[in-house]
Amino acid sequence: MQTNFSLAQLADPHVAESEKILRKCVHCGFCTATCPTYVTLGNELDSPRGRIYLIKDMLENGRPADKEIVTHIDRCLSCLACMTICPSGVNYMHLVDHARAHIQETYKRPLLDRLMRAMLAFVLPYPGRFRAALKLAGFGRPFIGLFEKLPALKPVAAMLKLAPASIPPASPKASPGTHPGQGTEKRGRVAILTGCAQSVLDPAINDTTISLLTRLGVEVVVPEGEGCCGALVHHMGREEAALASARQNVDAWTRAIDQGGLDAIVITASGCGTTIKDYGFMLRLDPAYAEKAARVSALAKDVTEYLAVLDLPEPVREPGTIVAYHSACSMQHGQKITRQPKELLAKAGFVVREPREGHLCCGSAGTYNILQPEISAKLRDRKVKNIEATGAEIVATGNIGCITQIASAAKLPVVHTIKLLDWAYGGPKPEGVSERGLAAAE
Ligand code: SF4
Ligand code: SF4
Repeated sequence: MQTNFSLAQLADPHVAESEKILRKCVHCGFCTATCPTYVTLGNELDSPRGRIYLIKDMLENGRPADKEIVTHIDRCLSCLACMTICPSGVNYMHLVDHARAHIQETYKRPLLDRLMRAMLAFVLPYPGRFRAALKLAGFGRPFIGLFEKLPALKPVAAMLKLAPASIPPASPKASPGTHPGQGTEKRGRVAILTGCAQSVLDPAINDTTISLLTRLGVEVVVPEGEGCCGALVHHMGREEAALASARQNVDAWTRAIDQGGLDAIVITASGCGTTIKDYGFMLRLDPAYAEKAARVSALAKDVTEYLAVLDLPEPVREPGTIVAYHSACSMQHGQKITRQPKELLAKAGFVVREPREGHLCCGSAGTYNILQPEISAKLRDRKVKNIEATGAEIVATGNIGCITQIASAAKLPVVHTIKLLDWAYGGPKPEGVSERGLAAAE
């Protein structure tokens, strides 16, 4: 694509990066067919190519964001299906991240939208605040019907609907410390991301990961000072907050590297993994962090990516249970991890089925299911229909956002992949799946 940026504009490294990306797009439109919002809404401006034109026009003319561009960029899920299909290597992720930061800087949203976004950025990345907010959600639940009738309050209704009725207690394993590997053969030393929302909604995911890895002889460190990866605010265009989170984690993991080395930084939420693998890019302009961030990104591994190179023993159980594997967008498009989770499940004795339209997002996408509840619900229902058509007994996936989203509509239990693997390798049966899922195999 031809671009017309001035030299003065290109002196801004963010603009220069976006210009490089824009020039790669050859307008072919292959990406439209795999874009969930284009498939759902049928509007070219809600396709990757349409959004690329809008972003180009905004940046080239150096103008503030307007209502039209905000509408279409807000509808983008950042699922990155467009990047998987693009034959020209267009890095849509970095382009839309830049556009979101530009919107945040130059556009004044309506008051309720601003308040909602500020509240999400204030609450979600902090487990203590998130836990308190979930407890308060019970008071708002009776008003869901009322909120749904008022367009500006639909996000509040969506948030209340997603909030679980009860939350498990915080896990002591999430506190900073070291979990030594068992056995005489030491097979590695890793840090684990404790994260934010997942540690509140389902602390058993990381507990299970620590349990499985230590049984396999891997030492697991929970470094002091870790926090939210920054993805939630990054996708809202709050660049400074995202970079602050990235720096905090880079510092925490650098200390862990200096104090004994790390073979990997293991991540159990693929949404976080995509962002942490991008820290090297996000902090490239910060001389104090660029190198350290690149090292952290290189060490970041999804837990299935790490397990896949560990040479696992034979499973102690052969479940034979039929599992529908839902590949989160951040897993398949963001990190290009497509093979490992399915192969691990199959090796552990599960019968793995892949739902139709596996490339399409389930509509979770960070805060998308709160901020764009109608499109999100359509995508969720489409995903659940495809999953249920597999005839599976359980759904496995590797991202807490997808677990919450799919579980809100599916009749099947939805569990993190690691819980099924842990069970097959001698751990306890995952909670909540005994009646309809794993019990059937016993
Ligand atoms: S990231 Fe997903 S929703 Fe956004 S343009 Fe690309 S395919 Fe469409
Ligand atoms: S597939 Fe790639 S090159 Fe083709 S229109 Fe989409 S972004 Fe541009």
